[in-house]
Amino acid sequence: MMKKLPAVIWFTGLSGSGKSTIAERLTAELLSAEVEIEHLDGDVVRDIFPSTGFTKAERDSHIKRMGFMAALLEKHAVTVVCTFVSPYRDTRQLVRSMCSNFIEVYVSTPFEECERRDVKGLYARARQGEITHFTGLDDPYEPPLSAEIVIDTTDITVEEAVRIILAYLE
Ligand code: ADP
Repeated sequence: MMKKLPAVIWFTGLSGSGKSTIAERLTAELLSAEVEIEHLDGDVVRDIFPSTGFTKAERDSHIKRMGFMAALLEKHAVTVVCTFVSPYRDTRQLVRSMCSNFIEVYVSTPFEECERRDVKGLYARARQGEITHFTGLDDPYEPPLSAEIVIDTTDITVEEAVRIILAYLE
């Protein structure tokens, strides 16, 4: 069971694509299977480090810090679930190279669906120009070219998404 652990399970995708929702459920499942696990979430980390901005340089520093922490935990056999938009391919590649078992989960829910959901009202604010550097609108998103797992949540439930990841880990 869970042959592929410990690992750094790295979720990437647009805001509102479903990263945090799937990761929280996955973390709960793995906890109940007694896996040593931590979840690092973009919104939570940004609350603790409020001066983290959204330019490429700032996003890169943020992702490198989180990748470094994830790699340290992984070295001590903790599985780390990471949920960051992490839009830049080269930065994700760098984090991959820092970890021993990096599993990239691309939550590929399309922009239109994310905007339709607009869970946090960010798409509306970005459309109105209240937020700039918004990924998918006036900031780039570079999709992974060879993610271990790709999940589009448009037509599947959270439970199904979690089952796809658990099947991969087993
Ligand atoms: P992100 O962390 O990528 O910004 P969130 O997880 O915060 O995204 O928001 C995703 C939203 O989409 C939530 O409101 C969630 O309930 C909804 N949703 C609908 N279907 C799914 C699904 N299959 N998987 C994940 N989220 C889903």
